[in-house]
Amino acid sequence: MATITCKDFLDRLESWMEGDVHSDSQAHLRNCPHCRSLVEDLKAICGEASNWRADEIEVFGSWEERKRFIRECAARKKQRDC
Ligand SMILES: [Zn+2]
Repeated sequence: MATITCKDFLDRLESWMEGDVHSDSQAHLRNCPHCRSLVEDLKAICGEASNWRADEIEVFGSWEERKRFIRECAARKKQRDC
């Protein structure tokens, strides 16, 4: 059973996108179709590329820019799902 909430998952999304995937996040993703679709949508919305390899993320410039971009995407997605 997942021990983290959707909010926790979102909080960890930045490090997820950075390649630091927590086992907690993975467990949550398995049990939460909502976050699973969010991750899929994030990939589709935030990147023309189909994956988030570090060298491709570099197009966003600094990590601060990237984090802001990911947050905006996540917020957009959450609004849409409400
Ligand atoms: Zn969730």
